[in-house]
Amino acid sequence: MSATSDTGVADVTATYCTRCGKLPDEADHTACARWLAAEEPPRFCAQCARRMKVQVVPTGWSAECSRHGALSGGAGV
Ligand SMILES: [Zn+2]
Ligand SMILES: [Zn+2]
Repeated sequence: MSATSDTGVADVTATYCTRCGKLPDEADHTACARWLAAEEPPRFCAQCARRMKVQVVPTGWSAECSRHGALSGGAGV
């Protein structure tokens, strides 16, 4: 049971912006979305908003949350 707003987003759990670490309602993420779409690495964990340890690698990036483990992405994915 979740109170879904009329934005069309039906996520059950709150997901933090991986670029600025704020909730979707908390800030304007237009620039964040553009930044992430450009295959730049995220900086914050989507699940806990902790700052992740980010490494840029030749194929893209890897980012590690101390609680939720590593993510990777970029051109090689
Ligand atoms: Zn953002
Ligand atoms: Zn996390």
